[in-house]
Amino acid sequence: MQIVRCISCDGFGWVEDDFTGESSDCDWCAGIGYVYRDDQGVDHKIPREDWEQVASQLEALETQRLREMGYQGAAKKPWEQNIREGTKGGENPYADDAD
Ligand SMILES: [Zn+2]
Repeated sequence: MQIVRCISCDGFGWVEDDFTGESSDCDWCAGIGYVYRDDQGVDHKIPREDWEQVASQLEALETQRLREMGYQGAAKKPWEQNIREGTKGGENPYADDAD
């Protein structure tokens, strides 16, 4: 299973409504910006329980994506990005581990 950039939101994790201008979580990747691609080339949402184990991979992909956009700083994890606060992608998966 390979992790690829979401084709629907291009890694942003959210999509903007063309009519209202409002942004919402991308349905395709559940706001993560990346999806699993299986051997058949079919994309699947990355389940929440997998976030922790793929976090470093996602971070590397995000760093690469930001570099492509000309951003030089360190990448933030999806749940650290202000834009995703209050969205599914804005939830810190590590926060649940304290329970
Ligand atoms: Zn997406």
